[in-house]
Amino acid sequence: MLKVIKNRLEQGHRTSRYPKEEIQLYKRFRGLPKVDSKCDAALVKRCADACPQECIDTNTRKIDLGRCVFCGLCETLSEGRFVQFSQNFEMGTSNRDDLFTHGDLPALAEHSKKHFKKLFGRSLQLRQISAAGCNACEADTNVLNTPFFDLQRFGIQFVASPRHADGIHVTGPISENMRQATITTWEAVPSPKVVIASGACAISGGPFYGSDEIVGDLNKLIPVDLYIPGCPPHPLTTLHALLNYFK
Ligand code: SF4
Ligand code: SF4
Repeated sequence: MLKVIKNRLEQGHRTSRYPKEEIQLYKRFRGLPKVDSKCDAALVKRCADACPQECIDTNTRKIDLGRCVFCGLCETLSEGRFVQFSQNFEMGTSNRDDLFTHGDLPALAEHSKKHFKKLFGRSLQLRQISAAGCNACEADTNVLNTPFFDLQRFGIQFVASPRHADGIHVTGPISENMRQATITTWEAVPSPKVVIASGACAISGGPFYGSDEIVGDLNKLIPVDLYIPGCPPHPLTTLHALLNYFK
């Protein structure tokens, strides 16, 4: 027992102080891209043609962050002249259209459903639906429950039953086999309820977009309140989105 106490004292305090203190991200992290809307048209086209997600619009020169998988190819090809990824992990939006961007996103806290802050600001229970993703979105969401992030200190936790939940957090492209299960789970959550689409798959189909085997856009099934882009979203992107949307 003494050994355990000694070990615990030696380890010290492990939980991050985010959002009071910043967390230093690894330099390879790709966050919100900065897009040069005046970039040479030929270079934009080259990036758009190479983009595996076909999410660069050559006319508006915007990137669809709801479909982007943050592979970095456009940044490499353009040597940073068209796209440069920043370390900004604050990418959640309440509006799908805002994810078509040059790199500017509206302040998430200013969303239109302010009553959610009053309803869920002190206590938010979410039911996770893993709708046929690759499991990376689920794994990085799970990281929020580790001592480092300690999601429960914010009054937010994932629960087993949709009947005990205030909303659903959906990851994956929603395969046809998961279509009804997703709807049934959502229906089982008592109103008022929230819907979160997390990751490129749940927002747009991600790498599976265009497949006949998926729904590919959660909004086609049920109305989405909060979008969290990424492939997968970094735990900090999710945490920032939850805190700003609900607190
Ligand atoms: S980082 Fe996004 S926009 Fe750029 S090439 Fe990859 S998927 Fe396309
Ligand atoms: S968004 Fe990316 S990480 Fe998440 S389930 Fe889809 S492929 Fe996997």
